[in-house]
Amino acid sequence: MEVKKYTSMVITENYYTVEYDDKFFIIDPGYGSYSNLYKKIHDKTISIILTHGHADHIFDLLNFDFENVYLDDDARKTLVNPELNLGNYFKLGKIKIGEEKLKNNEVLDENWKIIKTPGHTEGSCCYLFADKYLFTGDTLFFNSIGRTDLPGGNEKQMKESLDKLRTILQQNSELIVHPGHDRSGSAEEVLMSNPFL
Ligand SMILES: [Zn+2]
Repeated sequence: MEVKKYTSMVITENYYTVEYDDKFFIIDPGYGSYSNLYKKIHDKTISIILTHGHADHIFDLLNFDFENVYLDDDARKTLVNPELNLGNYFKLGKIKIGEEKLKNNEVLDENWKIIKTPGHTEGSCCYLFADKYLFTGDTLFFNSIGRTDLPGGNEKQMKESLDKLRTILQQNSELIVHPGHDRSGSAEEVLMSNPFL
């Protein structure tokens, strides 16, 4: 199993690849991820996992020849609406994906645990991979959290989501937290550095 982190140059969004068996996942394919990854993909079958539908996390999505896109059902609305996903702001065209390729993330295999964490957007999710890597998108950063004042944001839900994450981090100090922006760190480090937890 291999987990790699990359950072998009322009909008400094983190995207990740996760590889095991014959599977190749890309989490939140931001700006520049396609030109960076396409040589590594060769003829592998890839799938995309989204923590949420914001433009900076999906900028290169349609460049990839993916089998499926996994996300929370509540995140679909944001993904396809340029008003909600801030695509207008980023000059990103409308996202159109065939219904047959959009999958509820609950159908991912047993290596993935889905933690529903609305608050930054409707349908924001965190993904715990192999009981070790926690991909938190824009819900939780190393020493901060995502905004709740954008469309679909909800401060009360964010508080509940952070409560959920705090418990998970406290119970698993060895976890590696991989956020959608900024640096990664162990659960222990994040608990110490993040005033929102
Ligand atoms: Zn976001």
